[in-house]
Amino acid sequence: MMQDNSFSQKRWLADVAQQLSQLLDQQRLPHGILFNGHPGSGTQDIAQWLAQQLLCTTNGLWGEACGQCKACSLLRAGNHPDLVHVAAEKAHIGVDSIRQANQFLIKKAQLGQAKVVIIEQAELMTEAAANALLKTLEEPTAYSVLLLTSHDSDRLLATIRSRCTLIDIRPPVGQQLKENVVASQLIDDYSNMSHLAQLQNEVVAQEFIDFETIFAQWLATPYFNEEFTELLTEQPKALAWLAQHFSAAMRFKNQWQGIRESVVSAELAKLSDECLQQCYTLLLMVSRQLKQLTQVNKSFVIESLVIDLQKLIGDNAKQGKADRK
Ligand SMILES: [Zn+2]
Repeated sequence: MMQDNSFSQKRWLADVAQQLSQLLDQQRLPHGILFNGHPGSGTQDIAQWLAQQLLCTTNGLWGEACGQCKACSLLRAGNHPDLVHVAAEKAHIGVDSIRQANQFLIKKAQLGQAKVVIIEQAELMTEAAANALLKTLEEPTAYSVLLLTSHDSDRLLATIRSRCTLIDIRPPVGQQLKENVVASQLIDDYSNMSHLAQLQNEVVAQEFIDFETIFAQWLATPYFNEEFTELLTEQPKALAWLAQHFSAAMRFKNQWQGIRESVVSAELAKLSDECLQQCYTLLLMVSRQLKQLTQVNKSFVIESLVIDLQKLIGDNAKQGKADRK
């Protein structure tokens, strides 16, 4: 079907599309969505796809786009009256473009019910533009959906990020990436683009090795928390690296081929699936939480995280001994 055609070059988008379809079915689609991913990951494709699902008139507001109706053909031609596409002129998205989009969202839809605004590379909004968008994100008009895309969501105002549902688009690249990276010893076949920094930049590669060393030490002696806590607080990438270790350990345990063996993954693979899953979920939750906190709260959250991880891993070890008796 359409979906397959549009994603044949970017098959990873099909999973994202499926999740979005479910939200549409359940009428739980958020009013503001931010698709974040590296250039080429398809953030724009998925935003366009979702706009079509929302605007197709044949299958109703929440059905799947037919590709045949007037709305669908207008979309293909790039002139659907209920879709506004905002992109940077020169290097920025100015406040006027956002004001126009806001005005558009106040009006009634012309063809169906939904109105959609796509803001391409939203991180290019000037501060004035971002502030103008905030109000619309805070007080949505009926049937209006704001779809933002970005290549670097960290460059967006925190207030914009917190009012959108963030969907990370992560194409797997594995072998392809392996062939042209600086530190190819750091990569396995399941690496994806979230690893790019530590693979392409030697400084970051060294930081990653340092991180691994301290993490391995902590795993061996988990009651010395200080250095590990400090590392997680100071190194902005540490939480993501930690999460990657837990997900790699889950795959390692399930005997996926091609996983890079390291002291760390071998050590983590001793933990039960359930424990790994719990640690991983905890890390994702904490990362999300941290994006919204000030510096003061941050160290508290990290300290609690380390204690929680220690407890999860400690309980697992006790359980292991009890099972063997
Ligand atoms: Zn249609």
